[in-house]
Amino acid sequence: MRLFDTHAHYYDDAFGSDRDEVLSALPAAGVERVVCPGCDLPTTRQSLALAERYPFLYFAAGLHPENLEGASLSDLDEVRALARHPKCAAIGEIGLDYYWLRTPEERANSRDFFAAQLALAGELDLPAIVHDRDAHRDTLDLVRAHPGTRGVFHCCALSAEDAKVVEKLGWYVSFTGNVTFKNARRALEVIAALPLERIMIETDSPYMAPEPFRGKRCDSRYVFRVAETIAQVKGISTEAAAEATYQNALRFFGLEDTPL
Ligand SMILES: [Zn+2]
Repeated sequence: MRLFDTHAHYYDDAFGSDRDEVLSALPAAGVERVVCPGCDLPTTRQSLALAERYPFLYFAAGLHPENLEGASLSDLDEVRALARHPKCAAIGEIGLDYYWLRTPEERANSRDFFAAQLALAGELDLPAIVHDRDAHRDTLDLVRAHPGTRGVFHCCALSAEDAKVVEKLGWYVSFTGNVTFKNARRALEVIAALPLERIMIETDSPYMAPEPFRGKRCDSRYVFRVAETIAQVKGISTEAAAEATYQNALRFFGLEDTPL
């Protein structure tokens, strides 16, 4: 069984003491590919540096809605430059977060950055990795306004109805360990409603450790629990769910299925 963790933040301080140990152990644990999305310029640079060291690790370049304080749209020139690196797999993590951003000004500013980065993804022919927290309407509106850009709703919190809209737009959704939590009914409905070909798996490490590891630091080895949950909902083997989501991620990020 091989697994593709499409979203893990390995520059995070949570890996400060054992980052290399954790990353080096992933291929032998079946995690054959990982995408590490940046959240601002420094963490995008750190993700790029990790991608240069580990053949199985790719990075995404972008400004997260929670990291826009002091940012200006001209910072996107550097995002563009970083994204031209051969191991850049996506523009991300970008999007809207109305849970953390409360004022109309902050929200409008985050929409400007999101729109500009969706356009950048289209310009560079890279997929977008989208964070959408409590902002489904505006996120979907901006995605629809950029028909030349493809992408994924990461850590999917959409309703089944909105997920079908996303599917029609040609976009993907990905699921974290929170699908193993007791209150995951809605996510399970989305998994049931969507074709397997549009689903990817991720950990969002160091956050979102699945049951029975909930509350611990998460790393990509736990992504098998997400594959297990998808397998249960779809009535297929865990191996089949792992392989299908692996193939989906290769296709989504435009990666060759060559031995690393
Ligand atoms: Zn993330």
